[in-house]
Amino acid sequence: MIDLRSDTVTKPTPAMRAAMLQAEVGDDVYREDPTVRRLEERIAAMVGKEAALFVPSGTMGNQLGVWLHCRPGDEFLCEAGCHIFNSEQAAYAQLFSIAARPVATADQVLTVQHVQDLVRGEDVHNPRTTLLCLENTHNRGGGKVLPYEGLAELCRWAAACGLARHLDGARLFNAVVASGISADKWVQHFDTVSICFSKGLGAPIGSALCGPRDAIERALRMRKPLGGGWRQAGILADAALYALDHHIDRLADDHANAKILAEAVKQADGLDLDPPTVETNIVIFRVDPKLGTAAQFCDRLEQRGVLMSPNAKHKVRAVTHLDVSAQDAKRAAECLLEIGSKPS
Ligand SMILES: *Cc1c(COP(=O)(O)O)cnc(C)c1O
Repeated sequence: MIDLRSDTVTKPTPAMRAAMLQAEVGDDVYREDPTVRRLEERIAAMVGKEAALFVPSGTMGNQLGVWLHCRPGDEFLCEAGCHIFNSEQAAYAQLFSIAARPVATADQVLTVQHVQDLVRGEDVHNPRTTLLCLENTHNRGGGKVLPYEGLAELCRWAAACGLARHLDGARLFNAVVASGISADKWVQHFDTVSICFSKGLGAPIGSALCGPRDAIERALRMRKPLGGGWRQAGILADAALYALDHHIDRLADDHANAKILAEAVKQADGLDLDPPTVETNIVIFRVDPKLGTAAQFCDRLEQRGVLMSPNAKHKVRAVTHLDVSAQDAKRAAECLLEIGSKPS
């Protein structure tokens, strides 16, 4: 099976497993796991922040990030298609009494024009707006890299309004590799950033929340009641360290493989890329209703040994990753051509 459902399906490579076996460990709730501490220092330095906290999931990293910047009754601004708003069960509301203010855009790229009139203050009727959340690369936006200058301008505007900035950087390194802009340059516009090791970087588990030291100390305290106080997590941290050493540059291969899929989508007259350009490792396309639903289309792919996921009734998502070779991508592309033609 060629599994293109998500970049979360990667399995640790033999070399990564060997690194994990050697990991020096301790109890991380006592902050005595040297490998966890090494990972936290390393990722913090890579993104230009004072400190980092290793957490079990991107969801926990994001929710801690939102919690750091909002009190009960506050709201944060975000693009309406973002993961924090759509795919994390509104944990900020369930757990912390925080509200989201999602803003719809045509192309998942939030600009100052979209939000300039939305900041609400001390009027007793309103929630207070205290935070802006962005996502880079944008998952539902087809792995889009946010335009750098627009992002910088939006963050400068937010800072001038007194809003904190949190970046959902689940796939920050995909943005780094695709844009040639370094991680710290992207992240300098934000107070906090959450980064996943378990997506394209290929580690089995884990994310990091990075930011100012005092904020990360507060997040460490809140991680515990969320159930994220783990013990000999150095085994997992070593996998993440291995990924930072060996799996960043190779994201370019995933991007090249995604372009192979995108070319097939363009050639198949029953399929349409949406968005029309593929910049990183995510390919989203519409399936002509004459070919049935997205779920039916994915069933036909599965019969040919290719897994993709229905993303909406008539939309399919394919994600390239460490366990998909160029040859696999070519085979998947052939399947798309074979079953992606409109019946005449
Ligand atoms: C995967 C993902 C997350 C976090 O997911 P977990 O499954 O909780 O690790 C956050 N944001 C985006 C954009 C993601 O794709």
